[in-house]
Amino acid sequence: MTDAEKSPANRTPGRRIIIAIDGPAGAGKSTVARCLARRFGLLNLETGAMYRAFALKALRLGIALDATAPLEQLAAETTLRLEAGEQENRVLLDGEDVTGLIRNPQVTDAASRVSALPSIRTWMVRQQQELGAQGGVVMEGRDIGTVVFPEAEVKIFLDAAPEVRGMRRFEQMGPEATAQPEEVIRDLRARDERDRNRAESPLKPAPDAVLLDSTHLTLDEVVQKAEAIVASRIGELTAG
Ligand code: C5P
Repeated sequence: MTDAEKSPANRTPGRRIIIAIDGPAGAGKSTVARCLARRFGLLNLETGAMYRAFALKALRLGIALDATAPLEQLAAETTLRLEAGEQENRVLLDGEDVTGLIRNPQVTDAASRVSALPSIRTWMVRQQQELGAQGGVVMEGRDIGTVVFPEAEVKIFLDAAPEVRGMRRFEQMGPEATAQPEEVIRDLRARDERDRNRAESPLKPAPDAVLLDSTHLTLDEVVQKAEAIVASRIGELTAG
């Protein structure tokens, strides 16, 4: 077998490596996923952006965020696309580029609500599985290692204390921040609570995920640790 054939990128015929990054908001998932994708030559897919785009459509149409049947109908009429970008994914909602419209607090809250509905999750998960079917991806979300790709070669669960995650989010908002840090922390806790306690695929580490707590680390340090985890796993796969 040649070195190229032994490479984990070609380990399973027709399927390249999958890296699953899960964890609560503000733990550093996006930065880590972006850096891993660059370093290992993979596509970075942010599944949260899909929930956000769908939530934006529901908000625009004034559909209640817990109205299962109308939301299922809406899902059946919705096309979502994720395209890799330099900093973040480009998100196309029925062909419209909504990348710049899905990060505000209203959409953030709405995404967290619609994502609790089992049938909406089933619809999203199916699309995410199709997106990653060939591998060669870093997929970031809440249920990637547990539900979307339980067979992912690398699973990292990133976490940090809520106060630290909230302050990071607040600082990311920069001078435009309209909320106080306490409000940001409170909203983030409420989202966590919903993600961790929902009946359908709650946020939790997969049994075989590597836990990475970033409470006392800088983002650079977290990225370094995540790269080391991936490199070591690739080494194991190549040896095995
Ligand atoms: O990751 P992001 O903050 O963009 O995700 C927005 C919301 O979508 C989260 O608060 C979470 O409720 C939901 N989500 C999810 N499962 C995923 C990704 C995101 O439930 N795989």
